[in-house]
Amino acid sequence: MDFKEHITIIEDYPKEGVRFKDITTLMQNGPVYKKAIDDMTAFAANQEIDVVVGPEARGFVVGCPIAYSLEKAFVPVRKKGKLPRETVDADYGLEYGESSLSIHKDAILPGQNVLITDDLLATGGTVEATVKLVEELGGHVAGMAFMIELLYLNGRKNLSQYDIFSLVNFE
Ligand code: 5GP
Repeated sequence: MDFKEHITIIEDYPKEGVRFKDITTLMQNGPVYKKAIDDMTAFAANQEIDVVVGPEARGFVVGCPIAYSLEKAFVPVRKKGKLPRETVDADYGLEYGESSLSIHKDAILPGQNVLITDDLLATGGTVEATVKLVEELGGHVAGMAFMIELLYLNGRKNLSQYDIFSLVNFE
């Protein structure tokens, strides 16, 4: 399936020079959204995952249905201050801006295999912060799955030790 034709490119959003990849048009088509999730789940099914972890908000859009399909746990990573119980936190830089992410301290048990999911890999800052949180809790990052990878931002450069799957690449 050509997933690319269902992704809309928005010029100069959210700031000038950024070509934003909008996945909401892909999600508006039920069979295409399902096929995208099924392909990502097929990758995850080979990784012996215990837990799926996704950063808010679009990481939930891909991570929750994958966890549901695999009958595995889903753990949310959220902006600092949003989770109600004790957290560990990590700072990170974005393609546009800076922020801090949190995870519940008891969300992952030492030695558990974790799949990290998000809609899109750009510079890798978000996923690197997510890896830091998972590893701080003793989790093992068994793989990463993205709908979209922006090859020109080279997010993989600091992630070479991880098994990365992306459905669609933009050059
Ligand atoms: P990174 O941290 O890899 O630079 O950026 C990835 C994060 O920013 C992801 O959580 C993703 O949701 C968001 N993001 C950055 N650029 C885009 C984009 O063009 N489209 C979408 N859908 N999300 C983006």
